[in-house]
Amino acid sequence: MFLRKRRRIQASSFSLYWEKIFSALQEEQDSGASHPAKDSRNEEFRTMQELAVKKEQQEDREKPESRVEGGQAEIKVPVNKIIPFSSVDGPGNRTAIFLQACNLDCKYCHNPETRALCIHCGDCIPGCPTKAIYWEEGRVAFSPEKCIGCDQCIHACTHNASPRIRRMSAKEVFQEASKNLPFIRGITVSGGECTLYPEFLRELGMLCKKRGIGFLLDSNGYYDFSKDEKDLLPYIDGVMLDIKAYNGEEHKRVTGFSNEEILKNMRILAEYDKLFEVRTVVVPGLFSGKDTVEKVSKDLSPYVRKGQKIRYKIIAYREFGVREQYRQFESPGEEELKALKELAEQEGMQDILLI
Ligand code: SF4
Ligand code: SF4
Repeated sequence: MFLRKRRRIQASSFSLYWEKIFSALQEEQDSGASHPAKDSRNEEFRTMQELAVKKEQQEDREKPESRVEGGQAEIKVPVNKIIPFSSVDGPGNRTAIFLQACNLDCKYCHNPETRALCIHCGDCIPGCPTKAIYWEEGRVAFSPEKCIGCDQCIHACTHNASPRIRRMSAKEVFQEASKNLPFIRGITVSGGECTLYPEFLRELGMLCKKRGIGFLLDSNGYYDFSKDEKDLLPYIDGVMLDIKAYNGEEHKRVTGFSNEEILKNMRILAEYDKLFEVRTVVVPGLFSGKDTVEKVSKDLSPYVRKGQKIRYKIIAYREFGVREQYRQFESPGEEELKALKELAEQEGMQDILLI
């Protein structure tokens, strides 16, 4: 009883901290230009996200039920959703796995409920019509079989989180995806940001390789893949990488963070021939689509000339799913998109897809 009370108190002070960070970030992001205080607040957000992810993994490792053969602890990750058959997450039919939590803060994020880990404040519990979410040992627990997918909990959450999370190991995810094996070409892991969980990705990639199916990552690129030259890269077929903006200041306006690391990682992935696709969402008025498409294409064209098949997916911004305070943007017109495609072609890209 005492333990439960103490956990509730811890959760609520943690929740206040997050509320403070989120609202300060939102105000600062809305105010436009970057400044040092805003940058350090963004870094604080990123560090907190990464620490929260590590903390949950450590807690999982300490649970007796996480012990597997040889006494080692199994790594579990927060899975938001598994789509058995997807035709938009890489080539062919694929099972798509969406992990929870992200380390960027994109204004046009279309899945804002995947951005943060649940802080167990309990605000979403009363509104659930089927009692699929409930308190269990001071934390918010979820019964998938009771959930009717009404999204009341997502609307109630002010922390960009979701209570509909299953903590799963790579083996468990693979087992679930295996049910679709005769009908899929591979597995794609997306997010949130999947590279927050590199050990999980490595294990799942190994299982895919053993079974002879493809394994792709959908990433924001804020991860140095070269440090995993032997541990992760051999197990992935490629990365679908978001380049939100090429210009550093514009990138900060779009995501809250600089893009030096992301551009470096784009080139690293191309060097290793692991860049399956680059994606840019075109949002007129937020950043220059022309500058981004031109410079990304210029950077990647030497690899395309060498014979690498790197696709450039140019995506029109649509407001569906975007947070209300960021819905002021307009979608680009057809002419603008066609001009961007032509520009990418002129700069040397060959496989360009407009969506
Ligand atoms: S979507 Fe959320 S609120 Fe609706 S039934 Fe499922 S858990 Fe409950
Ligand atoms: S998902 Fe529910 S319990 Fe978790 S942070 Fe959001 S409102 Fe709070």
